[in-house]
Amino acid sequence: MTAALLPQWRDDWALFLDVDGTLLKIAAAPDAVSVPQRLIDLLAKLGERLGGALALVSGRLIVDIDGLFAPLRLPVAGAHGAERRAASGRLQRRDDSDALVAAKRRLAEWTAAHPGTLLEDKGSALALHYRQAPAFEAAAKHAVADALLAAGPDFHLQEGKKVLEIRADGVGKGRAIAAFMSEPPFAGRLPVFVGDDLTDEAGFETVNRLGGHSIAVGVDRATHAKWHLADEASVVAWLEASLGEPQ
Ligand SMILES: [Mg+2]
Repeated sequence: MTAALLPQWRDDWALFLDVDGTLLKIAAAPDAVSVPQRLIDLLAKLGERLGGALALVSGRLIVDIDGLFAPLRLPVAGAHGAERRAASGRLQRRDDSDALVAAKRRLAEWTAAHPGTLLEDKGSALALHYRQAPAFEAAAKHAVADALLAAGPDFHLQEGKKVLEIRADGVGKGRAIAAFMSEPPFAGRLPVFVGDDLTDEAGFETVNRLGGHSIAVGVDRATHAKWHLADEASVVAWLEASLGEPQ
């Protein structure tokens, strides 16, 4: 990491951070991660430094994120923005489980027959994880395409790192960031988003449109991000160094 490859830290930023693959190494299964106390302390200090304008923006559910980062409770978008807790504490959540019943049944049958695959029901979305059974990748894509037909025209496929997710149109990290930016204490600040995966591209596009900074972590694909960090450790080191910058 060299400083020239990153934007100069400013205390008038609104900072949005993805979690898995950005702050934490991706684990074999979503529940196999733990958050070092040092990172929790760092986020608490950064949130104070930014006047509360720090939010996590993740594919995980908010309840899951709160558990990981306890006792810290930051503003947060979960399930790629299908759930969002504003800085005020107000919680918004969409529930598409009725529309996803048939798709869920198909994917539950499929995962039961394919050891190592895992179906996660987020209420607003269905995520098929195959990290522990990569040989099933092609079959998993076929199964999700089939389930997507059962979900109907209001849903789409979001691919991630060893995960395939069916979620409603109109849900995404870009919209979640834009929603935060319309509210205090984010409004009027410069948005900065750090993420790693395909689902983060919508967030990069949103902060670029708002004149902010988009930072991709460990990405070797074409990306909308303007800046780059090598890996999760580099993100944490950069955030720690930023705390040392003069206010
Ligand atoms: Mg990620």
